[in-house]
Amino acid sequence: MVDLKGQYQKIKKEVDKAVIEVIESTAFINGPEVHSFQKELETYLGVKHVIPCANGTDALQIALMALGLKPGDEVITSDFTFAATVEVIGLLKLTPVLVDVDPNTFNMDIEKFKKAITPKTKAVVPVHLFGQCSDMEEILRISKENNIFVVEDTAQAIGSKYTFNNGNVKYAGTMGEIGTTSFFPSKNLGCYGDGGAIFTNDDNLATICRSIVNHGMAERYYYTRLGVNSRLDTIQAAILKIKLKHLDEYAAARNKAAEYYDKAFATNSKIQTPVREKKSTHVFHQYTLVCDGVDQFALQKFLSTKGIPCMIYYPVPLHTQDAYKTESMKHEDFPVTNQLCKSVFSLPMHTELTDEQLKYITESVLEFIK
Ligand SMILES: *Cc1c(COP(=O)(O)O)cnc(C)c1O
Repeated sequence: MVDLKGQYQKIKKEVDKAVIEVIESTAFINGPEVHSFQKELETYLGVKHVIPCANGTDALQIALMALGLKPGDEVITSDFTFAATVEVIGLLKLTPVLVDVDPNTFNMDIEKFKKAITPKTKAVVPVHLFGQCSDMEEILRISKENNIFVVEDTAQAIGSKYTFNNGNVKYAGTMGEIGTTSFFPSKNLGCYGDGGAIFTNDDNLATICRSIVNHGMAERYYYTRLGVNSRLDTIQAAILKIKLKHLDEYAAARNKAAEYYDKAFATNSKIQTPVREKKSTHVFHQYTLVCDGVDQFALQKFLSTKGIPCMIYYPVPLHTQDAYKTESMKHEDFPVTNQLCKSVFSLPMHTELTDEQLKYITESVLEFIK
């Protein structure tokens, strides 16, 4: 699905040098690279504060902790996402309220979001799935009207840009009160281990997040709140500094591969190629197709005999998972997610795809879906 080795080969010299420098400095924890990466990412995103942390799941948890929510407060998020989003809501004893998604963009359905709001709703976590922003204009407007915090899960969409009706352009993760991301190796800005970050333009929330990542400490050995231990390693920060410089070029390579796929599948009426959200750019964390009436797992098996990876993101709706299901979530309230889980499949999507590989992949898919 990704070619981390091919990508590494192109920046090997620079990365090896940076990693060795960190090792020789022995500043493994909170070394200078962590701070300089933070500053560089703040500049790139045009956001006031970046708070690095240990992974994208921690970033979500810390963001929700920082908002000072109380057990039983409801947090709305989408049913069709990676489990981490829902998991942290539950861990904090908040009540996850899942809503169905839009069949075209796979992001939160705005009408369903509106209907899910109750007096207990305190936050919404729009997930910018597969690389493009949710309908933030509407989500921000509705949230403001209802006094709801917005925490953007940007794990799959770092670098994606959203244009508001008034012409303002903002990066994914910088529009709500807080944004979170993951630097997991296969993410668009991936390090060589685990990593994550929190974004905010709010000075007060930034101070709280910085304290939470460091055991809730205010000044040395004075603890003002419960926190966690969540740090980005210096080695990972040094690698991320190098990869951040290539992020736009990586997004362009992913878009080029997506265009090849789009063209190859355009004439097959059974296949729905990714629909672009008009106000957002797409950074193609995943290239995900919808094909009703085709057994995705049979396709996956067929492609694997040809040496082509194919993944189903996501095969099981979250509202049906033993860990998250509740009485109030009814299967029939999620027609889109239910159908998508049966009909989506994702093809290899990364920065190193060649036309030759793309030709082989698309011809093989079309051999199965005629
Ligand atoms: C990857 C991912 C996360 C979690 O990131 P980790 O760094 O693996 O903890 C959260 N949300 C979404 C949508 C993701 O894709």
